[in-house]
Amino acid sequence: MVYLDNNATTPLDPAVAEKMALFMREQFGNPSSLYPIGREAKEYVTRAREEIARALGVHRSEIVFTASGTEADNFALLGVLEAIPDKKEIITSAIEHPAVIRVANHLEKKGYKVSYVPVDSAGTIDLDFLRDALTPQTALVSIMHANNEIGTIQPIESVVRLAKERDVLVHTDAVQSFGKVELNLDKLGVDLASISAHKIYGPKGVGALYIRKGTHIQPFVHGGHQEKGLRAGTENTIGIVGFGEAARILTERGKKDRDHVERLAEPLKKGIESTISRVRFNGHPEKRVKNTLNFAFPGLEAEAILLALATKGIYVSTGSACSSESEEVSHVLLSIGLRPEIARSSVRMSLGRFNREEDVKTVLRELPEIIEKLRKISAFDPGE
Ligand code: PLP
Repeated sequence: MVYLDNNATTPLDPAVAEKMALFMREQFGNPSSLYPIGREAKEYVTRAREEIARALGVHRSEIVFTASGTEADNFALLGVLEAIPDKKEIITSAIEHPAVIRVANHLEKKGYKVSYVPVDSAGTIDLDFLRDALTPQTALVSIMHANNEIGTIQPIESVVRLAKERDVLVHTDAVQSFGKVELNLDKLGVDLASISAHKIYGPKGVGALYIRKGTHIQPFVHGGHQEKGLRAGTENTIGIVGFGEAARILTERGKKDRDHVERLAEPLKKGIESTISRVRFNGHPEKRVKNTLNFAFPGLEAEAILLALATKGIYVSTGSACSSESEEVSHVLLSIGLRPEIARSSVRMSLGRFNREEDVKTVLRELPEIIEKLRKISAFDPGE
């Protein structure tokens, strides 16, 4: 198998699986229980929180566990707005993940004014639009750090600077940048950030929201006193332990991973561009997470390419995993100005820690042939 869909999810690192299995076998205590097995479980959760905080350059008290990156995004937007009831405007971008965009759509229905910052052809947000959209009524700016479909990295430092001039809070969805760029949330200056374990070789179903000390936010799940009462519910201890271990490994070898992935992704990109005619690279040439390669193959349907590659054991994606089952054209690709038929011809390849040089060779051997065959049977002439 050549797995090139690491932005959808990453394989569990064997060391993470090992740690989770050990914990699962030996620890079943409830972290809220006061006797030894409860305190032990709590100790594990604390250590995981510390590892995640360390990997993000923040303090452990600023990390709140959630059930996913999606939940962290929902929590950030809804929790902040509830804490600032007199402000009824938010600003986000046109290319956010559905975990933010759908919340923003929901808020619009509830009477909030939402400004969607447009992006240029490389997927970078328009900072002038953002500056003009900020008003005394703005409660929050939520702009993703790295895009899941095309990898473009947003100028979050500039977003923070503009927002802070107006005393506005900033949230960033860092689900796709955590592990793929060096990340220090404290230095980045954001007030809130979402992350997810299954994008960093940890388990599915666990995420976290970074909440800078002093940030006003209302609880997201009401109930017990877990997570300082902000997100009630007995902790997913097994998942959290796995998340902590995945973060520990990132701190240890994140730079090595990034160099490794770049060494594979660059020749893959060049190889595709030099062997296949009429391909179009989607995304920023430089300011992007280097593991993400998104190409349009005008005249073809991405699904046909995906299925043909899958028969060769090569797994790629046609967009974000969340939208791949729907008929919708990617809002991200439309936002960078692609015509719908070009967007529909776009395939995403996302590399990760466990890819090998052999994988790149396999793709460069199989893909040109597949494209040629599909073009022969395709009736559509893109005229380009
Ligand atoms: N935000 C971004 C940018 C993502 O890519 C994803 C997952 O694809 C999410 C949020 C949602 O994370 P989760 O799958 O943990 O809910």
